[in-house]
Amino acid sequence: MHENSVRWLGHSTFEIITGGGTKILIDPWITGNPRCPVEAEDVADVDIVLITHDHHDHMGDDLALLTGDGKTDILVQPEVAAKLADMGVDGATGMNIGGTVEISGIGITMVQAFHSASAGFPCGFIVTTEDGKRIYHAGDTGIFSTMETLGDIYDLDVALLPIGSHFVMDPEQAAHAVRLLKPDFVVPMHFGTFPVLVETPDAFLERVAQLAPDAEVRVLEPGDAMKF
Ligand SMILES: [Zn+2]
Repeated sequence: MHENSVRWLGHSTFEIITGGGTKILIDPWITGNPRCPVEAEDVADVDIVLITHDHHDHMGDDLALLTGDGKTDILVQPEVAAKLADMGVDGATGMNIGGTVEISGIGITMVQAFHSASAGFPCGFIVTTEDGKRIYHAGDTGIFSTMETLGDIYDLDVALLPIGSHFVMDPEQAAHAVRLLKPDFVVPMHFGTFPVLVETPDAFLERVAQLAPDAEVRVLEPGDAMKF
């Protein structure tokens, strides 16, 4: 068993490779993502795709290419699965908030998020790797007090949190989210992509140091990975 790897591909797009070698893409916005350093072809041998909601910057235009071999599990809400089928992307598995689906020894838990969508209800995901590590991807959301409960239940190793304001938590809310979630590591996301978003993680770093000093913030450059 190798270490688990979490690679940021810009905005909310992450590639997780578990210790057992399973590759997971979360919110795969690749073509057209101004901060994504790879082409869709480069990450197309994907085992599991998770989509937090149906906004374009979380679904992208590459799903047919990414999942076209028919071997990729796509986990989304049933309404998003129906929307994908209308777009010609078949075979998505519908699940919903509170539920866990196990694939190849990996647990995929869908959790709540507070945002909007045109199909289904926005969500986040907690991925439990083969060796029991837990990675939380918050999707797009404002802060919510149930984050504390998620932290209590799931003993999070890594939290991937939006900090860019305007459409999602701002650095202040996101730092309080770290305080509630109590992860070992935090990776900020959903900033610096568009002009309306917060440009840098500086304010977030400063407030996490004050509010949740036990959490270690890992600021990744697009294309960089952290291993744990
Ligand atoms: Zn959104």
